[in-house]
Amino acid sequence: MEILNGKETAKSIKEEIAQAVKKRKAEGKKIPHLAAILVGMDGGSMTYINNKLKSCEECGFESTLMRYDDSVTEEVLLNKIQTLNEDKSIDGFIVQLPLPPHIDEMKVTLAIDPMKDVDGFHPMNLGKMALNLPCFISATPSGIIELLKRNKIETAGKNCVIIGRSNIVGMPLSILLSQNADPGNCTVTLAHSQTQNLAEVTRTADILIAAVGQPGFVTADMVKEGAIVVDVGTTRVEDSSKTAGWRLAGDVKFDEVAPKCAYISPVPGGVGPMTVASLMINTLKAMELKGK
Ligand code: NAP
Repeated sequence: MEILNGKETAKSIKEEIAQAVKKRKAEGKKIPHLAAILVGMDGGSMTYINNKLKSCEECGFESTLMRYDDSVTEEVLLNKIQTLNEDKSIDGFIVQLPLPPHIDEMKVTLAIDPMKDVDGFHPMNLGKMALNLPCFISATPSGIIELLKRNKIETAGKNCVIIGRSNIVGMPLSILLSQNADPGNCTVTLAHSQTQNLAEVTRTADILIAAVGQPGFVTADMVKEGAIVVDVGTTRVEDSSKTAGWRLAGDVKFDEVAPKCAYISPVPGGVGPMTVASLMINTLKAMELKGK
């Protein structure tokens, strides 16, 4: 069994980006600038945003964080997005989800200029992705693709089962892995809460990807011997042995599943760091696309 080490893989990607930025700086060219909007005080969202800002620093990017109270109106947020769309110094920006219930997330997503949509959530980017056209691919699916690629995982002709069909993980990943690309060319099954006999389905997987959000959901009996398992799940669970009082748990029961796998990604240190690295790749690309 080998570990798909997202932390190390992400570190190499960020080092490559930092080199490219250093070269640009030496040539007197602009350096990438990522802006982030954070609404409220959700602990998970604050951790994700901090990781993204820290990665900007590691890559040599400029970054700007804009924070709002939970009570911010949709209008104020949409106006801010318009300002960021027009601000030539900002190459890309993200609005950290989830947003409070009184704000329409789709309205917010649609307001973002697709050329600055480095999260790749805008329908324009999702549609282009489906047609295999140049676009921003959302960070978690593209991070998983990059993790498979950089670890030289053969995907062509493999049976891939993805559990979870969200717009930000399972659905785009199912499209990417079924495309005529490398990584890609898989025969993909996209499972969800209505899937019948799930364990029977997952046991057909050469590559099993879990994006459910339920700690320990995937057990050893659901996994074929020699499978490649990617765990996307990140749920905060209580853990009194940790200073914070919690730890991140994946969707896979690692201890019992890992011995059956050819490769497995851990939580933490698997998909999470790759998501942030992909956001950095998208931000650099956003700047380069404008010919800056
Ligand atoms: P989501 O929107 O809540 O979707 C969960 C999916 O799981 C849904 O498609 C749901 O099916 C399916 N599901 C629920 N119960 C099921 C069951 N019993 N059997 C089969 N499928 C079931 O979740 P998400 O946003 O994709 O996130 C999934 C997990 O990944 C979460 O833990 C999240 O925190 C994590 N995540 C991590 C990263 C990262 O960078 N590491 C990024 C994004 C998300 P239905 O559609 O039928 O309801």
